[in-house]
Amino acid sequence: MCSLPTSRQPLRRVAVTGGTHGNEMCGVYLVKHWLQTPGELQRPSFSAMPVLANPAATAACRRYLGYDLNRACTLTFLNSTATPNDPYEVTRARELNQLLGPKGTDQAFDFILDLHNTTANTGVCLISEESQSSFNLHLCHYLQLQNPGLPCRLLQYEPPRAETYSVESVSKNGIGLELGPQPQGVLRANLFSQMRTLVASTLDFIELFNQGKAFPAFEIDIYRVLGKVDFPRTADGDLAGTVHPQLQDHDFEPLRPGEPIFKLFSGEDVLYEGNSTVYPVFINEAAYYEKHVAFLKSERIRVSVPALP
Ligand SMILES: [Zn+2]
Repeated sequence: MCSLPTSRQPLRRVAVTGGTHGNEMCGVYLVKHWLQTPGELQRPSFSAMPVLANPAATAACRRYLGYDLNRACTLTFLNSTATPNDPYEVTRARELNQLLGPKGTDQAFDFILDLHNTTANTGVCLISEESQSSFNLHLCHYLQLQNPGLPCRLLQYEPPRAETYSVESVSKNGIGLELGPQPQGVLRANLFSQMRTLVASTLDFIELFNQGKAFPAFEIDIYRVLGKVDFPRTADGDLAGTVHPQLQDHDFEPLRPGEPIFKLFSGEDVLYEGNSTVYPVFINEAAYYEKHVAFLKSERIRVSVPALP
């Protein structure tokens, strides 16, 4: 299922990015803190660089100003000629590409850990665009072992047109860390400290990797995104109902055919009509209303991950 990394070069150039979405407050304030006191990001073999990814959106406490930065890091945007009409985030994506890339080249950073919050009840959710990255699967397994009280799952997302667009896609390897539930623009102490712990564990894992530690083979359940489900809508496109109370907050739990997913304003239930059990993720995420997404459907897959020798 997974390929082995072709070489085991130490990861020396590592960045921790926060505020990619300017109203996801754990990453915003962790990175602001580390920009003042970076000691927590230092390990014997490397020092991770804190980066406030979207300073203008952070100042405005908005997800983005003109365009979603976490969709703007495509080679098409990064390599196109700048124009005065470019959205702020497209310009910022090119700056990040200068700082942490260039994407797809040998000069790019070795690893970006990009910090996010979600309003959905996901717990810890690692998002990997790299379907074959055994490094990311070993990282997820390490975080599970180090933090037994925190459910930690890996969501594999392959962009539909096979062109990666996330901030971490600028580096050679990277992962997105989602932590929820936390409202937009709100900082909760428990999630702030959880994210701090998860970042420390991630850097510890990279340090062990750099030291040449052997990581044994294991099996793990991962979740692979199958598609999106929109809210029920009226003829003119407005909402016709809410996420069903029996689905709300049940991220990563099985949804079987015939179970309710929406409650219409008329009072009727809308049932899930698929053929097989799926695992909904990002249920009722605030930022996805504009994207016409009530939740993502995923499938759970058992994966055998080879040892990192
Ligand atoms: Zn985000």
